[in-house]
Amino acid sequence: MKERDSKRVLVTGGAGFLGSHLCARLLQAGHDVLCVDNFYTGSKANIARLLGHPRFELLRHDITFPLYVEVDEIYNLACPASPVHYQYDPVQTTKTCVHGAINMLGLAKRVKARILQASTSEVYGDPTEHPQRETHWGHVNPVGLRSCYDEGKRCAETLFFDYRRQYGLPIKVARIFNTYGPHMHPDDGRVVSNFIMQALADAPLTVYGDGLQTRAFCYVDDMMEGLIRLMQTPPDFAGPLNLGNPQELTMLEIAQRIVALSGSRSAIEHRPSPSDDPARRCPDISLAQEHLGWRPTTALDTGLRRTIAYFQERHFPDRALPAD
Ligand code: NAD
Ligand code: UDP
Ligand code: UDP
Repeated sequence: MKERDSKRVLVTGGAGFLGSHLCARLLQAGHDVLCVDNFYTGSKANIARLLGHPRFELLRHDITFPLYVEVDEIYNLACPASPVHYQYDPVQTTKTCVHGAINMLGLAKRVKARILQASTSEVYGDPTEHPQRETHWGHVNPVGLRSCYDEGKRCAETLFFDYRRQYGLPIKVARIFNTYGPHMHPDDGRVVSNFIMQALADAPLTVYGDGLQTRAFCYVDDMMEGLIRLMQTPPDFAGPLNLGNPQELTMLEIAQRIVALSGSRSAIEHRPSPSDDPARRCPDISLAQEHLGWRPTTALDTGLRRTIAYFQERHFPDRALPAD
């Protein structure tokens, strides 16, 4: 039988930063989209322009409870992603990662759906290998403040691979590295949103520690392309697969770019480093290039300009931005 082009797609966490972009992309591609979210960190504003769409449906639901719906594909994105939010109620974070994964895998098994897990570079913890390849097993504190998320996501990966081995489920696991763009929560504490909000207010940029720790930042449109391509890979390809931008930057460097691009007068202020803060992080994306023919194409300055404009419009409408 010919596979239908238009699918019924469930996006958990669909009202969040990444989920809302994914819902929009899937609708554009002609699919029916069921967005499931408990609005823990997500917002109606993120999906406001999708609400009237005839192929979009929204369900307020917590995925730690069973969900009975009929779908062809599942993107499991539900989970708070910023340290401030996932540490606010760490027990709920683990429940979302683990019980949520079990429920979504049980659902996928019953309806024979493909299922993609939004895993994270945090499964590598404070990595001992650089850049990180998928073969690195990670260096993770099991009892620290970040463990609810890191270990929760690691356990979810285990569940995904066991459902594959035990029940032959067609799974995909994406290890997402730091992603930024419009729809980020203005005060979820992530570095890009913090720095942009501070720069637009001409307030000091809070650099934690010496600012020499590194991350690699991927623009959200590039990430969406990667996730959708991963879902479309042949059934025998499960990953795990790194998705991210391999351009590595220190926090001081990203601070300087944001100050310059927003025309800000902000200074830099150092604050204590949070516990278990990884010193270096950068993806090796060779596997994604090989299997998806994918690599990010949005330049850092382009992505930052769009993100700064998004925050400026909503929170600092009277502030003028420098011309490109
Ligand atoms: P986000 O916090 O903006 O979105 C998460 C969404 O999940 C929110 O809408 C929230 O309300 C919802 N949610 C949380 N718990 C839920 C539950 N129990 N039931 C139903 N909905 C629930 O975060 P994001 O940045 O969009 O991240 C999406 C996914 O991608 C997460 O799984 C995250 O771990 C993963 N990820 C993101 C990044 C990044 O840089 N943004 C990096 C690595 C991994
Ligand atoms: N589940 C769900 N929706 C479904 C099917 C299952 O939420 O359509 C949940 C169900 O509550 C169960 C979990 O997924 O706790 C795992 O399902 P599975 O069939 O793997 O295990 P079992 O039901 O045997 O515990
Ligand atoms: N960070 C910072 N100032 C901030 C917020 C974060 O210097 O206002 C640092 C943080 O210590 C970490 C990096 O920026 O080293 C990325 O932090 P984020 O919370 O965005 O993501 P994650 O730590 O999960 O990669």
